[in-house]
Amino acid sequence: MDSSIVALKREKRILLENYLNENLPRYETTFMENEDAVYALDLDGHFLQINPACEKILGIQVDQIGEITFQKLVPVDDLHRVFQNFHEAFEGKVQNHDYKIAKGGHQVYLNVTTLPIVVNDEVVGIYGIAKDITALKERNAKNRKEQEIHKLLTENSLDIIVKTDLDGHFLYISPSCEQILGYKPEELITQNKFSYVHYHDKKRAIKNLNDVISKGENGRATFRMKKKDGIYIWVETLFKPVRDPDSDDIIEVISVIRDITERKISEDEVRKREETYRNLVENSPDAVILASGNEIMFINDTGVHLLGACTKEAILQKSLMDIIHPDFHDIASKRINMGKDSQEFVEYKLIRLDGSEVDVEMKGITTIYQNHPVKHIIIRDITERKKTQELLLNSEKLSVAGQLAAGIAHEVRNPLTAIKGFLQLMQSELNTHTTYFDIIESEMNRIELILTELLVLSKPQDLKFEMKDIAVIIEHVKALIDTNAIMKNIVINTYYECENLMIRCDENQLKQVFINLLKNSIEAMPDGGKITIEVINHGKDKVKILFKDTGSGIPKELLKKIGQPFFTTKENGTGLGIMVSKQIIENHHGTMHIWSDPHGTIIEIILPVK
Ligand code: ADP
Ligand code: MG
Repeated sequence: MDSSIVALKREKRILLENYLNENLPRYETTFMENEDAVYALDLDGHFLQINPACEKILGIQVDQIGEITFQKLVPVDDLHRVFQNFHEAFEGKVQNHDYKIAKGGHQVYLNVTTLPIVVNDEVVGIYGIAKDITALKERNAKNRKEQEIHKLLTENSLDIIVKTDLDGHFLYISPSCEQILGYKPEELITQNKFSYVHYHDKKRAIKNLNDVISKGENGRATFRMKKKDGIYIWVETLFKPVRDPDSDDIIEVISVIRDITERKISEDEVRKREETYRNLVENSPDAVILASGNEIMFINDTGVHLLGACTKEAILQKSLMDIIHPDFHDIASKRINMGKDSQEFVEYKLIRLDGSEVDVEMKGITTIYQNHPVKHIIIRDITERKKTQELLLNSEKLSVAGQLAAGIAHEVRNPLTAIKGFLQLMQSELNTHTTYFDIIESEMNRIELILTELLVLSKPQDLKFEMKDIAVIIEHVKALIDTNAIMKNIVINTYYECENLMIRCDENQLKQVFINLLKNSIEAMPDGGKITIEVINHGKDKVKILFKDTGSGIPKELLKKIGQPFFTTKENGTGLGIMVSKQIIENHHGTMHIWSDPHGTIIEIILPVK
């Protein structure tokens, strides 16, 4: 360095030192008590005078005075700014700069004001006042960050961003609040958030907030909030606890409030629709099962009843295959795998809980249940239908057989009469083989008997319907049978509730019925007994005729077979009497029923009265 410059510098330094020493007493208090670091530098940047705050803020000690320079505190990158700063100070400028210095491993932000020290019109040094702005800087940075987050969050106008204290008082409300709740943020600030929550939901919402505070975790709640116009909207709120950076205590809660009214309404609608569907299904006269694959998800009461269960749970524990008869497993699993809806009802056999079988027809339609695609299976009990079908088929067969038999009987009887006549003629002339003739005759008689009974089953159009007094017909039959009965020690009593009961009937056919029944009763009482015939009014336009006997009765297991053609328990019986009688009564639009026990039998006939 040039020796003249060194000399000049020393000269200036002395000037500065003298100046500082002379001036200090004038502002000593301000200097010493200043919260900011106040210092004087020589033209090389050496600290020549420092106040106590310098130690705290800049981290320099009194014993370093004259040794340490300002530029030593500054990172290398900033050095050029320091020299620039000095240079301008030498030119007499007052400046203000921010510096970042390293102090004991920490970064400290300083705001430094520099002013030149002028003695005899010459700059001899620099006064510096340094403020520690670290906290301020950090706060600003944090604020900026928060502002950015806020901006980010509030830009989405679908949500309201709210900051509340731990009791729910609004500390901040985003502008979107106006759009959603109708309030301007300033109308709500310091109000309590829960004052706007529907009273039904308040408890739950408060609990949710408290959970968030006590657990320190995010939480979610759905409740109704009142808008300025008084209308409630459904909102979903996400609570986020905010902690104090120093103590780590939760001090505030940020909530993101979203209007979900529309979603809620559509959810409600879905629920309502599901309820209606459920009601419909629940009260359906058909059994209904909702099944997902082989799993039974739902069954209605009709279904529970059909399957002989007491509770729904008993069925829900089963799989679809458990209730389908094994014979139908193949077809059922094929249908399930196809996944297609059936267009028509298909006949199945199901197994009830007690193991019995039930005939049904089923149809499966795809539907949605609790958000899952399921099969809505309609099940109809067709046991009754099958029964009537069988019955219909039977009675049809019977009447065809009856008509056929009647026809045959008619055709066979005529030649039989001729044969019988000639046989008698031959017998009287031949006088040999008498036993043969006896056998032939008895067999012919039997054929004749069967034919007589069958002949009664003439076609309905051949019948001769006339108005007849029922009592007259019965008394006529009784007179016919009485001698026979008395011989067998049997008493026949008649009882008429009223007189002159007129019936439109074929008299001979009805007589045939009554003879058949009385004959059966007599045959059931080989040791004698009593027969009672009762004629009673039945409703407005019907009459009930009861034939009661004190005979041996019909064993229960045989009762079902009585009336089937040729079913008889008698050695010489034809097993046609009851069948023919029933047919005749039905041709007269009446009904016939049999009750029997070991003490006797009751035959009930009901006929329409004119
Ligand atoms: P049949 O009299 O020729 O046997 P029916 O059709 O008249 O044929 O009767 C059929 C069967 O019904 C009889 O064999 C008998 O076993 C039973 N039955 C009918 N009526 C009576 C009755 N009153 N008491 C006991 N059994 C009866
Ligand atoms: Mg008989």
